[in-house]
Amino acid sequence: MTFDSREISKLGTSIFEEADQFAQLHLVPNAPQWGRGLFDRRALFGPAGAVGLLSLQVPLDLGGFGLSFGDKVKVLQKLAQIDFSAAMALVNSHNVAVQLVKASPNELSPLYSNDLMRGNFVACTALTEPGAGSDLGQIQTTAIQNGDGWLLNGSKTWIINAAHADGVVVYAQTQVGSGVKGIAAFFIRADSLGFERVAVATSSALSSMGIGGFRLTNVYCDSSHLLYEPGKAIVDIMGAINRARTYVAAMCCAMVSQALTDVSVYGHKRTAFGQSLDQYQGWRWQVAQAATALQAGELLVREACDLIDNSGEVQVAAAQAKLYATSMAQTQLGTLLHAMGAEGFLDRYAFLRHLTAAHAASLADGSTAMLLERVANDFRFKPGAI
Ligand SMILES: Cc1cc2nc3c(=O)[nH]c(=O)nc-3n(C[C@H](O)[C@H](O)[C@H](O)COP(=O)(O)OP(=O)(O)OC[C@H]3O[C@@H](n4cnc5c(N)ncnc54)[C@H](O)[C@@H]3O)c2cc1C
Repeated sequence: MTFDSREISKLGTSIFEEADQFAQLHLVPNAPQWGRGLFDRRALFGPAGAVGLLSLQVPLDLGGFGLSFGDKVKVLQKLAQIDFSAAMALVNSHNVAVQLVKASPNELSPLYSNDLMRGNFVACTALTEPGAGSDLGQIQTTAIQNGDGWLLNGSKTWIINAAHADGVVVYAQTQVGSGVKGIAAFFIRADSLGFERVAVATSSALSSMGIGGFRLTNVYCDSSHLLYEPGKAIVDIMGAINRARTYVAAMCCAMVSQALTDVSVYGHKRTAFGQSLDQYQGWRWQVAQAATALQAGELLVREACDLIDNSGEVQVAAAQAKLYATSMAQTQLGTLLHAMGAEGFLDRYAFLRHLTAAHAASLADGSTAMLLERVANDFRFKPGAI
């Protein structure tokens, strides 16, 4: 088999093989204890950076792989099969490296991209606040111009990696009352004066996501650390959200795919009433339904990936992919867990962690209601279409 040169890792194997090996070496042994709340960032980011999993879409000339979005998604699926939360943590930090390269090639990228790619520096993206989730225009964190920079004040919560991040992309309101148009994006360090972490006590099943929050009290941000000006930040947010919806959908498919593998293996060897479980029609049909639903989810994901890679209009496709795949995973992971009997509750399997993750995925990067609105708006001027 030949690989595109861009996919060959520094170690001479394809990045897809590296992802498989990384999942076996680092996620399979660690995910069960991370799922009990014992997450250690050093066991994830350094090893992932060492094999290139934090440089997937960083351009080749800056030491990354320059992968297409579709290929990045395939890598993420390999990780999410074992631990959805860890894959989310990695992609969130990776995305900041790509964002710095794009939005600040001369100022911030030279300072942080290498360490982000190696996993020595971990980053997160912070929009959500205690009082504003779906309704982005309501964010209350303010950025006021101060001399050559900005003063940031406010609180963020439910942020992936915030429990241990070194750097944060903060979205803040520069003009109170102007809604999304006044929002700008800033890059700040977690060791800045006035930055204080606020713990978010969530399910241990999500611990490798490192969910947390923080409070900003007069945090000074030099103008060189302004990533997107007011008006431009919302364009960046919408692009990033469409891509995130697509990879979250893909990762939900990956969880179901892994569950199907586990169920098929177990159903063949487990016997009841004189024959293996997979000989019973009632049992087999549940698996067949899940496999069919997974295939439908994968097709929606591939369509959205192709649109992104070809600069197509992806809003509706991304919304539909996530809408379908998250709900499919919520349903099918429960069904497949049941098909395993009590065996599925052993923590060497991912069923319980992944069931929690599927529910969380239906909120992150746009809740189900927001996605339905997105799809419904597309049909607004086509009477009879729905
Ligand atoms: C696992 C996880 C990871 C996350 N990571 C990040 C991150 O890294 N960075 C970040 O900034 N944020 C992150 N978030 C926050 C996420 O973006 C928000 O949870 C999401 O935007 C929804 O906001 P909310 O939870 O405040 O719910 P709300 O907006 O308060 O909504 C509550 C419920 O009401 C429904 N609802 C809201 N408005 C309407 C409406 N108009 N019509 C009908 N129903 C409505 C919603 O669908 C939802 O079911 C994460 C969340 C989770 C669960």
